[in-house]
Amino acid sequence: MTASTVLQLAPIGPLADGLLRDELQAVRLWEQAEGWLATHGASVGLLATSVRWGCDAAMLAALPNLRAVSSWGVGYDTLDVAAAHARGIQVANTPDVLDDCVADLAWGLLIAAARRIPAADRYVSAGSWKVLGEFPLATRVSGKRLGILGLGRIGSAIARRGEGFSMQVRYHGRGPKDVPYGFEPSLEALAAWSDFLVVACGGGTETRHLVSAPVLTALGPRGILVNIGRGSVVDQDALIAALDEGRLGGAGLDVLQGEPGAPDALRNRDNVVITPHVGSATIETREAMERLVVDNLHAMLRDGRVLTPVLP
Ligand code: NAP
Repeated sequence: MTASTVLQLAPIGPLADGLLRDELQAVRLWEQAEGWLATHGASVGLLATSVRWGCDAAMLAALPNLRAVSSWGVGYDTLDVAAAHARGIQVANTPDVLDDCVADLAWGLLIAAARRIPAADRYVSAGSWKVLGEFPLATRVSGKRLGILGLGRIGSAIARRGEGFSMQVRYHGRGPKDVPYGFEPSLEALAAWSDFLVVACGGGTETRHLVSAPVLTALGPRGILVNIGRGSVVDQDALIAALDEGRLGGAGLDVLQGEPGAPDALRNRDNVVITPHVGSATIETREAMERLVVDNLHAMLRDGRVLTPVLP
């Protein structure tokens, strides 16, 4: 008999939690007695989780009849996708619906860091605005050179916005794409060309510390790094050293190594703007993401296929 229980690992959000309960009668693992998995694991056919809670090899092993994992979030670095695929388990994430909001935030960080908007706001809030024209000059945005690491769904949305700012756009990734932007096979060369370098690739061992000390040095004392991908992509010690030594102009960061929280060395700098991993955090986008988690499970039950699979 097909395992039919839908298991929810942890709270995802009010909309998804309600739909999972009402439409799919999901069992909430965090409300069950200890040992539930050992007793009932074999009855679970579908799993709902999020990039925050993940799904590791041990969890997969506890669910021998699992057919699909539906995860909230586009990143899947906390899910053991390879182990799932090896068992024929489909894995779904929530791509596309968040591209615009994450791209908007990338641009917010870029402009905020270049034009020093938070520092200017602190200056006014502190009552320091007593003389016109005293606040230090900032960096121009329009017409500059935009480099993108990872021209995927979100990276492409960031690039399109760059055209509106009359920017030249180039990108680096594992290979060239059929796009109207120049491909740069070397990330260091892309950084040397760029005024702004935006990280829009995912985390994991393959991308860890791609933005290294030489890349930051190449970006240069007037260059600005924006990271809305994953904290692990940037060598954070090298970033702090580059800022300390004036080898990098500034940074706008939505994701950090060791988050939540930011190290003292990155906080309260006039040329660094940090947001607490809120790229997709708008009411509209979060609702769409939560709905897609549930829609993927409905599609699996109806058609035997999730709507937005993570491909091997
Ligand atoms: P996507 O469409 O899969 O794009 C990822 C891009 O990363 C691809 O274009 C890929 O380029 C590039 N890439 C992968 N491995 C690489 C490598 N080793 N070197 C260079 N480039 C590499 O994913 P997406 O939907 O745009 O999402 C991207 C990431 O954004 C997610 O994985 C997540 O970590 C992050 N994100 C953050 C937030 C936030 O709140 N800040 C929200 C959503 C997503 P090639 O295939 O051409 O190599």
